[in-house]
Amino acid sequence: MIPLVKPIFGKKEKQLINEVIDSGIVASGKSVEQFEKTFTKLSGAKYGTVCSSGTTALHAALLACGIKPGDKVITTPFTFIATSNSILYCGAKPLFADIDEKTFNIDPKSVEKILKKEKNIKAVICVHLYGLPCDMGELLKLKKKYKFILIEDCCQAHLAKYKNKTVGSIGDAGCFSFYATKNMTTGEGGAVLTNNSKTDKLTKKIVNHGRMAHYGHDMLGYNFRLTNVAAAMGLAQCEKIQSWTKQRIANAKKLSDGLKNIDFIETPFVPKGYTHVYHQYTVRIKNGLRDKFMKYLQENGIGCGIHYPEVIYKQPLYQKLGYKKGLCPIAEQAVKEVISIPVHPSLTSKDINTIIKVIKGFKK
Ligand SMILES: *Cc1c(COP(=O)(O)O)cnc(C)c1O
Repeated sequence: MIPLVKPIFGKKEKQLINEVIDSGIVASGKSVEQFEKTFTKLSGAKYGTVCSSGTTALHAALLACGIKPGDKVITTPFTFIATSNSILYCGAKPLFADIDEKTFNIDPKSVEKILKKEKNIKAVICVHLYGLPCDMGELLKLKKKYKFILIEDCCQAHLAKYKNKTVGSIGDAGCFSFYATKNMTTGEGGAVLTNNSKTDKLTKKIVNHGRMAHYGHDMLGYNFRLTNVAAAMGLAQCEKIQSWTKQRIANAKKLSDGLKNIDFIETPFVPKGYTHVYHQYTVRIKNGLRDKFMKYLQENGIGCGIHYPEVIYKQPLYQKLGYKKGLCPIAEQAVKEVISIPVHPSLTSKDINTIIKVIKGFKK
């Protein structure tokens, strides 16, 4: 079986974790500070705060940007549910814009339709899905015209670039996940990056009980802290994320070369000037063949997954909130056609050739 995902750990992770244990300070401390600095620098942002997950990163970023109960926030329905749940945590209302057919990312044209129709949109959360940056040029133009807060969900897009700009500080804040299957991991973990010092200061308070001093609190905060143990793992992973990213991109190129000219498969589309970091290598399987194709891959030892099998507003939770079906037809079509196949950096050339060979042997 060639697995769909495989976290990679080496001696450095074990060494740094052991050092934390030996120090006796396993909650937040020096390793957290070091990891925070290192990851922020890698991503080219001015400021950063690490926290307990990608979900708490989104929640903290929305709060730090001033999202309040009753506010409206536009996002994509084609993402992991944490993206829009973070809006609900703030008591705000998610509004769903449709996606672009080719990139699977939020379509700025669909965002503008909502901005024209609805008054007082407070924020937009764009998701760099599968590791491909959104059309930040168009989103920034809309931001200027309609004045909203732009938050990037970078949970799948560590070190991805939109025209020489690393994602995470192109908008007002960028949220990252270090969950076990992401491009780098701390087991569970997250980060909020920003170029705005006020947003950063507020984020640091929100993730730590609204603390100004050890027992001084002037606002409602949370315990969204990361531990030193997790941060030690993250520090070791920071040394390797650049080479892993190169490997993901090289693996994706081999897959796309090997899978071109197969009539029922559409390989990932990357607009000019964008750096896709392939958290997932996701293809579209046309002609209603996706589920048959998935079963075939599983029977032939190729790990695969569906990201995502349903649009968020059709999930029972959101149905109870009153969202209508048919809201975003392009996203509703995508959920029926996408499938992710292995692209992670531990794949060998032989694995990649096997994947291509098995796929070429699929009989419609
Ligand atoms: C993983 C992920 C999250 C949530 O991150 P966690 O660390 O699992 O809480 C949010 N958004 C997207 C797009 C993700 O892929």
